[in-house]
Amino acid sequence: MTQPRLTLNDGRTMPQLGFGLWQVPAEETARVVREGVAAGYRMIDGAAIYGNEVGLGEGLRSAGVARDQIFITTKVWNDRQGRQEAARAVEDSLSRIGLPQVDLMLIHWPCPEQGLFLDTWKALIECRAAGKVASIGVSNFRVADLERIIGETGVVPVLNQIELHPRLQQAELRAFHAKHGIVTQSWTPLGQGRSFEAAPVQAAAARTGKSPAQVILRWHLQLGCAVIPRSTRAAGLAENLDIFDFSLTEAEMAAIATLEAGERTGPDPATFN
Ligand code: NAD
Repeated sequence: MTQPRLTLNDGRTMPQLGFGLWQVPAEETARVVREGVAAGYRMIDGAAIYGNEVGLGEGLRSAGVARDQIFITTKVWNDRQGRQEAARAVEDSLSRIGLPQVDLMLIHWPCPEQGLFLDTWKALIECRAAGKVASIGVSNFRVADLERIIGETGVVPVLNQIELHPRLQQAELRAFHAKHGIVTQSWTPLGQGRSFEAAPVQAAAARTGKSPAQVILRWHLQLGCAVIPRSTRAAGLAENLDIFDFSLTEAEMAAIATLEAGERTGPDPATFN
């Protein structure tokens, strides 16, 4: 199956669709990774705080697919921010996953009250120069946070992974990203199922013969976002991958856009530390 890829501002490419490992129990992670790869996923979203990087590495090694065919993301957690500490956090992630390099390393949250994200960004720039990570990006950064790191270092993150679903569409951040060549990656893309029953989603599902989850994932793809739904069930993993054989019309995209409600399911980056 040919899956769409997005070109990053450092010249590399990544699959537009992947799956996430948040709340996947450590002891199930290797199996979920193997099943995801067997189903056809080629991008996996991990994080140190998910507590399952060891299982991520185990699953990768037993998945039977060449390392360079799979795009691995992980993240520096909030208590490891700072120039030296973040560099050590990167080493720790690499050693847990069992790889000399990951494809993408993100700062998990800006934690503005800590005041360390600029130093953490400088650490990631150094880790990239040292070959420990191929690409570097951020997560949950606001426009002002992005402006700060870009202004101070001149290095534009390849990607910002943010909460994004029909009830929180992040128009301002998406516009900023588009202007600066930053990929928008949607976390909690299904929005905890809160839009599954919404009329525009139901109507598109009825017309296309797809599930509400598939319609919403397709909406993300057509917005140009990278997307990382999570499922621990083989059937769920397969369903979420089966979104490349249909399209939403412009009218359906516009109808889903009306579901914006400014509603977060997760923490607010302004106050989360
Ligand atoms: P999600 O939107 O992927 O939803 C997951 C929930 O939806 C699960 O309960 C799952 O069983 C259910 N589900 C999955 N596929 C379904 C389907 N086809 N039909 C019906 N239900 C379905 O939410 P998530 O796990 O919160 O987010 C996805 C990933 O994003 C995470 O695993 C993680 O990798 C990442 N994430 C990142 C951050 C961050 O701060 N950067 C925060 C949260 C999540």
